[in-house]
Amino acid sequence: MGEIRLGDIIDDFCVKCKRIMNHSVVSILNGEPAKVRCRTCHNDHDYRHEQAPPPKVDARKQALFNEVLTKVAPEAAEDEDVEELEVEAEAEVEAEVEAEAEVEAEPKPPPPPPKAKKKAGKAAKK
Ligand SMILES: [Zn+2]
Repeated sequence: MGEIRLGDIIDDFCVKCKRIMNHSVVSILNGEPAKVRCRTCHNDHDYRHEQAPPPKVDARKQALFNEVLTKVAPEAAEDEDVEELEVEAEAEVEAEVEAEAEVEAEPKPPPPPPKAKKKAGKAAKK
C-alpha cells in the first residue's frame, strides 16, 4: 500500500452519481483520505471507504405514507408539523391540476336519444 497523497485518484461511492466513481483526494487525516471529490460531478464529501450510504426513504413518498397513516390511524402519525406542510403543498398542486383540467375539458355532446326497442324476438325468425 502506497502512501495516500493529495490529488490521488481513488475509488469511492458518490452520492450524486449513486455509484462508485473516481475521486481525487482533497483532504487527508492520519494518512487516510478524509475528504474526496468526485471526478465526474465534482461533489466533495467525506471518504466513504467505497460504502454506499443506507437507502433513504423518498421524502415525498414518506409524506404520502404519513398521509395515509393519518387517515387510517391518526394517532399513529408522527412529526405532525412536517407532515402538515408536505400535505398542504401537495393539496395545492392537486388543486391547480384540477383547475387546469376543467378549463381544458371540452363540453361533452348530449347523449343520443334512447333508441326504440327493436322487435328482435319475432323478426329474427327464419
Ligand atoms: Zn459524482
